[in-house]
Amino acid sequence: MIHLIDTHCHLTGDRFSSDRDALIQALPDQGVWRAITIGTGLADAHEVAALVARFPERLAGSAGLDPHSCHEAGDEFAHQLAQLETLLQQHPFVALGEIGLEYHHRLNPADQQITQFEAQLDLAVRRDLPVVIHVREGRAGDGRDAHADTIDVLTRNPGNRGVIHSFAGTPSHARAYLDLGWHLSFNGMLSYKGNDLLREAARLTPADRLLVETDAPYLPPMPHRGKRCDPSMVALTSNLLAELRGERDDDVRAWTTRNACLLFRLELPPEWAAAKPKATQW
Ligand SMILES: [Zn+2]
Repeated sequence: MIHLIDTHCHLTGDRFSSDRDALIQALPDQGVWRAITIGTGLADAHEVAALVARFPERLAGSAGLDPHSCHEAGDEFAHQLAQLETLLQQHPFVALGEIGLEYHHRLNPADQQITQFEAQLDLAVRRDLPVVIHVREGRAGDGRDAHADTIDVLTRNPGNRGVIHSFAGTPSHARAYLDLGWHLSFNGMLSYKGNDLLREAARLTPADRLLVETDAPYLPPMPHRGKRCDPSMVALTSNLLAELRGERDDDVRAWTTRNACLLFRLELPPEWAAAKPKATQW
């Protein structure tokens, strides 16, 4: 069986303080080759760098000023952006993010969030890093559509590449991101009742743009809803994707692992080269 990459989790969080090391060491036995742990803000990014340095085979890290961190930064945003650039130079982060637009919680006004998002997209181009994007709709956006705004931003910034993480948009949002060359990453939300449009989006995503993640400790797939999510649960999402798309489990594993390794420049698990996935478009 081909190991998976959990492309988005938050292993520095308090909810992993009692069993973090054991959980990371057990990942290969749980079918996970590597987990990308995401730093939200500068303090967390330092913790991510330290954790990745302890488990270089099992983890990779990303760092960015997410909308909450941008809001907390206040007038210090430009200063924090400079510090982020230094951090990205000093440590082997594989991506910039998560960054993006958060219209569910009342944070900075939409226009300011967009400016701060674009400043970090420029930084990603300078550092030649893929970007992990967070998009959340909500009433705090004053009637604006977070996906439509993100699609505008990405259209204006064609030099960036990366992933819309925890994708929760409609099929038409999915098509717009795919047309711009972005990857879509699916997680436990795919298994939640009522998310039929999300499942439709997962069906229409080409195999070479598909990624899987957990967003652990959040959003556990069914039947674990309400519990703490951990990276091993990414297998449930991968299996569900195969079922929804009418594909073999191993083909979805092969594609998503290949896509993650190409996008984030990680080495493929050793069994990948030996596998002969039943697909014609490699
Ligand atoms: Zn996240």
